[in-house]
Amino acid sequence: MRLRNVKGSRETIANSTFTIDNPEDYKGKFKELFGNDNPIQIEVGMGKGRFITDLATLNPDINYIGIEKYSSVLVRAIEKRELLDINNLFFIRMDAEDLEKVFEKGEVDKIYLNFSDPWPKDRHAKRRLTSRQFFGRYDTILKQGGIVEFKTDNTDLFNFSLEEIPFSAFKVTHYTYDLHNDETMNQGNIMTEYEEKFSSMGNPIHKLIAERKN
Ligand code: SAM
Repeated sequence: MRLRNVKGSRETIANSTFTIDNPEDYKGKFKELFGNDNPIQIEVGMGKGRFITDLATLNPDINYIGIEKYSSVLVRAIEKRELLDINNLFFIRMDAEDLEKVFEKGEVDKIYLNFSDPWPKDRHAKRRLTSRQFFGRYDTILKQGGIVEFKTDNTDLFNFSLEEIPFSAFKVTHYTYDLHNDETMNQGNIMTEYEEKFSSMGNPIHKLIAERKN
């Protein structure tokens, strides 16, 4: 993805009360940050944050944390967040490679991956957010029976993910190559920025749900 440098985005993030500056300090203590025992769900690579802000608005009894590597897009999520009167959504600017440094074993209930970068070259496969290496990290931070939900329009990345998950501690429980025409799986679907863009171009959206086995 090509990213434009957004002037002042680092300062906006540092000054925002909605971003967690030293997330390692909250490891095992995110419930204290939210002030309740509600389940914690995270989106990895949330981009401009439309999906997770909509989810948080709809589900006040679930706590959400949006994770994004780049300030220039995270700042757009902060702008959306500032317009909302909710207390169940925070953001972290970090590389998802460090998830295990930030979250305690079993601290997370669910992980969303939406339109993750495809990294098409074979030698970059382990950077894909659905690689066995990343599923190993999700295995650590997710509780037993925890769920990963993944959407993309990229068929190669989707097929790779379906093949890769059996090498991890997860099993694929549901999948579709055409989410928007799958009545059951599309129920309650919340569109991401990329999903809206690619489906309006006529690309079918693929989705899978994977569950941590034990
Ligand atoms: N999820 C959004 C959507 O569906 O509209 C954005 C999709 S965009 C193609 C992928 C996003 O994931 C980018 O904002 C990118 O910076 C972020 N990302 C990619 N790899 C990441 C990583 N290792 N850690 C955190 N964020 C990452």
